[in-house]
Amino acid sequence: KKIIELKNVYKDYQQAGTLQTVLHDITLDILVGEFVAIVGPSGNGKSTLLNLLTGIDHPTRGEVIVDGVRLQKMSGEKLTSWRGGHVGIVFQFFQLLPALTLLQNVILPMDFHAALPKRQRKQRAMQLLERVGLAEEAERLPSQVSGGQQQRAAIARALANDPALIVADEPTGNLDAATAASVFELFAHLRDQGKTLVMVTHNEALAEAATRKLEIRSGRIHADDSRLSAH
Ligand code: ADP
Ligand code: ADP
Repeated sequence: KKIIELKNVYKDYQQAGTLQTVLHDITLDILVGEFVAIVGPSGNGKSTLLNLLTGIDHPTRGEVIVDGVRLQKMSGEKLTSWRGGHVGIVFQFFQLLPALTLLQNVILPMDFHAALPKRQRKQRAMQLLERVGLAEEAERLPSQVSGGQQQRAAIARALANDPALIVADEPTGNLDAATAASVFELFAHLRDQGKTLVMVTHNEALAEAATRKLEIRSGRIHADDSRLSAH
C-alpha cells in the first residue's frame, strides 16, 4: 500500500534573479512501513523533497499525494490541520516552545488536533516522554535540558498524534554519538512497529537501519536501493 506518491515532481526556486531547478522530474512511491533514508551531498535538494512530502512547500510541477490526499489541493488551515494529524515532523534544530515545559510541548499537538479527550492527552504525553527516556524531565523547560533531551522531546512531540508518517531532517545532526545512538534506537523501534519513516541523514547507523536508501544528487534520484521488503 502506497503512503506517498510523487509524480513527475519539479521544484524551481528563484535565486538571485534566476530560476534554479532544485528537483528534476522525481517520480517515487513509498509504501506503508518503509523506512527511507535520503542521502546525498548537501545543497542537492533533500530538504526540499521533505518539504514537499509534508506540504510545507508545493512543487512547481507534478503531484504529491500523501495518504491519498493531493497536497496541492489544500492550503492554509486545512493543510496545517491535515499535517497535524497525519505527519510527525522532526528537524535538526527543532524549536520546542521555550516557555512551555517538555510535557506541555508534547501535549500541544494533541490540543490542536483534539482527537483524544483532554484528560487523556496528558497521560499520553507522559507515556511518550517515558518512551524517549524523559519521564524525569517532563516538568522542565527546554532550556533546562540538554540538546539531546530536547531532540528526544521533539520526537515525542512528533509522535503525539500517532502519525502514520514520520518525516525527519537530520534528526541526529546536532547530537553527540551517545545521544544519537539513543535517537537511533527510537527510530528502529518505530520501524519495527510498522510506521513509515522518511528521513534525511548523514548518520551511517541510521541509514543502515533503513529499509531503503534513496540517494539524491543534483535534484535527481541517483540511486534507489530497497534492502528489505516493507510491510
Ligand atoms: P539539501 O537538503 O540536499 O542540502 P536543499 O533542498 O536544502 O538541499 O537545497 C537545494 C537547493 O535549493 C540549494 O541550492 C538551496 O539553496 C535551494 N533552496 C532551498 N530552499 C530554498 C528556498 N526556500 N528559496 C530559494 N532557494 C532554496
Ligand atoms: P514495547 O516496546 O514495550 O512493546 P510498544 O511498541 O508496544 O512498546 O509501545 C508502547 C506505547 O509507546 C505505544 O502507545 C506506542 O505508540 C508508544 N511508543 C512506541 N515506540 C515509541 C517511540 N519510539 N516513541 C514514542 N512512543 C512510542
